Amino acid sequence: MGAMTQTNVPTYFNFINGEWTPARSGETVKSINPANRNEIVGYVPSSGPEDLNLAVASAKSAQPGWRSLTGAVRGELLFKAADALERRLDEVAETMTREMGKTLGEAKGETARGIAILRYYAGEGMRKIGDVIPSTDSEALMYSTRVPLGVVGVIAPWNFPVAIPVWKMAPALIYGNTVVLKPANETTVTAVKVMQCLAEAGFPAGVVNLLSGKGSVIGQGLAEHPDVNGITFTGSNSVGKRVGHAALERGAKYQLEMGGKNPIIIANDADLDLAVEATISGGIRSTGQKCTATSRVIIMREVYDAFKEKLLDRIGQLKVGSGLDAQTWLGPCANENQLRTVLDYIRIGKEEGAALLIGGEQPEEAELADGFFVKPTVFDQVTPDMAIAREEIFGPVLALIAVDSIEEAIRIANDSDFGLSASIFSQNIGNILSFVRDMEAGLVRVNSETAGVELQAPFGGMKQSSSHSREQGQAAIEFFTSIKTVFIKP
Ligand code: NAP
Repeated sequence: MGAMTQTNVPTYFNFINGEWTPARSGETVKSINPANRNEIVGYVPSSGPEDLNLAVASAKSAQPGWRSLTGAVRGELLFKAADALERRLDEVAETMTREMGKTLGEAKGETARGIAILRYYAGEGMRKIGDVIPSTDSEALMYSTRVPLGVVGVIAPWNFPVAIPVWKMAPALIYGNTVVLKPANETTVTAVKVMQCLAEAGFPAGVVNLLSGKGSVIGQGLAEHPDVNGITFTGSNSVGKRVGHAALERGAKYQLEMGGKNPIIIANDADLDLAVEATISGGIRSTGQKCTATSRVIIMREVYDAFKEKLLDRIGQLKVGSGLDAQTWLGPCANENQLRTVLDYIRIGKEEGAALLIGGEQPEEAELADGFFVKPTVFDQVTPDMAIAREEIFGPVLALIAVDSIEEAIRIANDSDFGLSASIFSQNIGNILSFVRDMEAGLVRVNSETAGVELQAPFGGMKQSSSHSREQGQAAIEFFTSIKTVFIKP
């Protein structure tokens, strides 16, 4: 479909103080379909500092009223937002697939996860937020309680355009903060649709706001804004560090969830069929664009050839295509830059002396020529010092590394700047316990893929993967509130 022939492309607006509002400048940018760069999904505002100030001011003025409501009342609104998102699940999922390329099945699964997260945090509004602490003064009452931060800036990536904004906004809101969301450029239309569900739920004006615009303007602007009390960011390490510095500089609280270089260890007693499925699902699903994606496959030499043969056999069967096509197993990279990065790493892998076993190029089919597709790719003879074994690629590329023992496997798995997720396939309890004890990662998983996250469990990484706070589950209260210790002497 040529851009010139496309009619009725919708234009979307920011959501500020309860109103859908264009950018002050009137400027828009287009959001395109990565499976066909000629298809425009929508036009979204290109906001500037004036829009940012309006959104932050509206969040600031709404915050005292919002904080004064009970958790139960705030929770009712989150339940309503969940119901609205459930009613629009198919529409939101299809928008996600058209905007960033993941398959429709995955997009529906992610939207369902967003609904479940909203309901989970709606319930949190009724749970305890403090402790009574015995005082040494027999007449006094001492206890801890939690108070909201104030205005929270949410900076989100494109790879989970529903789940990540929701798992940040829902706890922020239930604990009494107001929110300004800056979605990733690529997935602003999806974010607008989520915000429409929140608007439909009837949050008071200013409690939730959405600003579409450049990361360097709106994202950076949120991190630097004196009236933004907390910043929660998920994205790349380079941007995360800048966001963290800007927040630290002015004493704001910040939370950074960043990259990974996640290993899976295949022990010589592993169930190889299950291990192959987990490697493919963890490494190739969503085109490898998950922060928890498997990218290093560390295999004991005894089973190396058998595992490799099964892996290549399965990878050869995976269909690349548009996420809207029911036959597709992996869609395109989410944008052109991401495709270039993946192709660059494939070139670097070859130059470094790794052996390309499968993939390594764009598909030949004519109908995929206008999309940012790349074939699932596997390298072997990878050594731990190579860039493809050290740097986050964020694409469907697996690096196979052979080892002689579990100790060597864990040592290599830990030889990384990152520490987000790791898994082992083994039946041996000794191997499993060593791995669980020694692995430097926020998520360690046994006989399961690296890319798995349950909404009620703490999520986050070690080392350069995170600023070490945790998201999701009850752990989220740590970031989105401050503890107040109360001492009352009658
Ligand atoms: P990104 O380029 O860092 O962008 C993330 C967000 O930051 C986007 O909203 C972006 O806006 C914004 N941004 C860009 N420049 C900024 C600046 N100077 N100041 C403030 N904000 C700025 O990352 P991405 O490419 O969207 O996402 C991929 C990365 O996210 C990968 O590294 C992946 O590992 C990581 N990730 C981590 C987790 C986790 O939980 N650990 C989960 C998912 C993804 P624009 O879109 O407008 O540029």
